Amino acid sequence: MKTFENITELRGFLKKFHKEDKTIGLVPTMGYLHEGHMSLVKTARKECDIIVASIFVNPAQFAPNEDLESYPRDLKKDLHLLEKEGCDIVFLPENNEIYNNDFETYINLEKLPKHLCGLSRPTHFRGVATVVTKLFNIIQPGKAYFGQKDYQQILVIKKLIRDLNVPVKIIMCPIVRNDDGLALSSRNMYLTKDERKDAVLLHQSLLKGVERIKAGNKEINEIIVDIKAIISQSQHAKVDYISISNGETLKEIGSIKGYKGLVLLAGAVRFGKSRLIDNELVEL
Ligand code: AMP
Repeated sequence: MKTFENITELRGFLKKFHKEDKTIGLVPTMGYLHEGHMSLVKTARKECDIIVASIFVNPAQFAPNEDLESYPRDLKKDLHLLEKEGCDIVFLPENNEIYNNDFETYINLEKLPKHLCGLSRPTHFRGVATVVTKLFNIIQPGKAYFGQKDYQQILVIKKLIRDLNVPVKIIMCPIVRNDDGLALSSRNMYLTKDERKDAVLLHQSLLKGVERIKAGNKEINEIIVDIKAIISQSQHAKVDYISISNGETLKEIGSIKGYKGLVLLAGAVRFGKSRLIDNELVEL
């Protein structure tokens, strides 16, 4: 496995694979890797000739009051896990390799970031869209792998590649969970023992919502109240949002009477210092 910090060197190395028309699969991450990340690498390994994983804690997607400084890092372990999974190349840029001092070009989407996580993190998706576009331009992958856990992020990326004609196929991989249902996340490490115990309520409450939608319960507001009631069993939980929306536009659904298509049940809840997100999809 080769590692690169420098864009020019990475591009030089990738040149021959592009010339030979090899399929390059990109797995972008912020490091502190777990089985969720590794599931993306495993899927990429099956579908691509060359796998590039990137590890970059992207400052542009953190607001000043967020956890950029304390975001967990363990590069040695990350490299070990990636090597074990058969990753070929790891891109590990420093901040100034990605953002020059005079950097000023950001990718802004007009609509998708106005929902869900974008409401409490108004500059987050601008940062995500910008760094992912840069990674696409630097690496020029044929396929790129993202987790359903960050569902809104996937919609943003799918939209930007369509709008900007980026020739890459986006693959969404399922959410990997702990045995009790908690979605794996680098941020779970901030949880105290009690918060960790309660954090399962997020997924359990969303499953309850899925059950009620499938049972034909039509009033979305009632379902949301019930989901929030389950989460508020925890004294550690502070709901950022619970939303039931159109799985393509993210516009909230008032009633599922007559609704056809993909429904997204999504939530962000703070347990102590950790802001955790999760979601479930239902096709109606
Ligand atoms: P992050 O390092 O948190 O930016 O995540 C990098 C990629 O891994 C994103 O595409 C995430 O959606 C994905 N990912 C994170 N956690 C999980 C999980 N539990 N299951 C599947 N994919 C995940």
